[in-house]
Amino acid sequence: MSNIAKQIVAMSPNTGNTNKGQQMASTDKHWQLLAQSSQAIWAECKGTSVYYVRISKDVVRFKCSCKSRYKPCKHVLGTLFLYQKHPQRFAFNNTPVWVRNWINTLPKQTHQTFNEKALASQLLAKQKKAQERVQLRTQGIWQLEQWLLHLIEGGLAQTHVQTHEFWEAQASRMVDSKARGLAQRLQQMGGIAVAAQQNWEQKLLEAIASLYLLICSYKKLPQLPPLLQADIKACIDFSWRVGITANTPVVKNTWRVLGHYVSKASDGVISAYTYLQHPKHPIALLLQFWHENQAAPLLFRVNQCFEHALQWYPSNSPLRVALVKPLPVKNNITLNNTSPTGLLSINNMLNNYAQALAANPWLTNYPVLLSNCLPMYQSGIAYIQDENLQTLPVTFKGDIWELLAFSCLQKITVFGLWNGKQLNILSVWRDTTCMVVTQ
Ligand SMILES: [Zn+2]
Repeated sequence: MSNIAKQIVAMSPNTGNTNKGQQMASTDKHWQLLAQSSQAIWAECKGTSVYYVRISKDVVRFKCSCKSRYKPCKHVLGTLFLYQKHPQRFAFNNTPVWVRNWINTLPKQTHQTFNEKALASQLLAKQKKAQERVQLRTQGIWQLEQWLLHLIEGGLAQTHVQTHEFWEAQASRMVDSKARGLAQRLQQMGGIAVAAQQNWEQKLLEAIASLYLLICSYKKLPQLPPLLQADIKACIDFSWRVGITANTPVVKNTWRVLGHYVSKASDGVISAYTYLQHPKHPIALLLQFWHENQAAPLLFRVNQCFEHALQWYPSNSPLRVALVKPLPVKNNITLNNTSPTGLLSINNMLNNYAQALAANPWLTNYPVLLSNCLPMYQSGIAYIQDENLQTLPVTFKGDIWELLAFSCLQKITVFGLWNGKQLNILSVWRDTTCMVVTQ
C-alpha cells in the first residue's frame, strides 16, 4: 500500500467505512462522472441514489451530498482511492455550479497539491478531533461522578429520584459528552426508579455501584490491561471502537440469526441488535446504527442464515462482531428450517456467565441459547426448566400464555438475554417452528 493510500485509510472513521470506500473504488459501476480542476476533484457516485462528492485538492476539505454520519463517508473515500490509483480518469473539466458554489464557501487557501504533506495535515486534524472527543468524554465522566456522589449523599428517598426528568437530563448530558453507553445506563436506572417494583432501591443501588466502578476504572485506564481498556471504552460509548486490526482473525461461516431487536435513542439514533450463531463459535452480536433521517441498512430476520466473514472486537468476553465486508445488496440469505442447538444445562450456562462476568464486570444482556426446556408458570412467575429440573426465571414481552400455548407441554429451545436475574426471551423454537417475541 502506498503512503498516500495509507493516509487515506488513516482518515477514515472506521474499518467498515474504509472497506466500503475501497470496494467502491474497485468497480466502475458507481461512477457516473469523475473530473478535476486545479482546485478540486469531484465525482457523481451512484449508490441507492446519486451522491455528489467534492474534495479540495489540498484534501483538507470535502463534502458529499449523502446523509452518512461518518466523515469522510464511503463516497469521499472511494473517490480518494480512485484518484490516488487513476488520476488520469479525472478529466480536466469546467467546474460545475455545485462544485464552484462549494469552493466559494471555503476559506482562502494557499495553493497546495494532492500529496502526502496535504494528507498528513488532514490526518493531524483528525487526531486533534479525536483528542477533543476524549477530553469531552473525560469532562462528562467527571461531571457524572460528582452527580452520582451528590445523589448518594442525598439518598434514594428524594422525590425527584423517581421521576423520568431527573435521569433523562443526566442521560442527555452524557449524549452531549459522546458517552452514549453511559446515557443508556442512566436511562435503564431511571426505568428501575420510576417503575418502583419490589426491591427497586436495591436494584438501583447495584446499578449505581456498577456505574461508579466504571468511572473509577476509567480514571485508571492507562494502567489496565489492553482488553479491559477495550471493554471500558465500549461501555462508555459503543462507537469508541477499539482495535479491529489487520491481524484480527477473520472467521468465515454460515451464521444463523437467533434474535433481533431495534431501539431508538432520544436524538433519533436507531440501534439494531442482531445475535448470530454458529455451533463452533460463541454467540456474536452485530450492532448496526443509523439516524432516523437515513435509509435503514439491510436488517435480518430471526432464523435467516447467511454466509459471511466476521471479526470479533477485542474484549475480555468477546461478543460484538464487525462484518469484514459490507453485505451485498442481494445476498444469499435463506431461511433455516431446523431449530438451533443450545446448551442443555442451566447450571453450565450460569457457570459460563460467571466466567464472562468475572472477565468483564459491566457485562449486561448476556446471550443465552438453551435447548430442551419446558416453560412453566407458577404463582405469577414464569420459568423455564431444564432436563435436570433446574429452573430459571424468564420475562416474556406479551402474554405468557402465548409461550405456554406455543410449547404445548413439549420441550422447546429458548434464546434470550440474561441480566443476572431474569432471562428476557427474544425467540423460541418447538421442533422446527420458530416464534419471535416482539420487543
Ligand atoms: Zn457520501
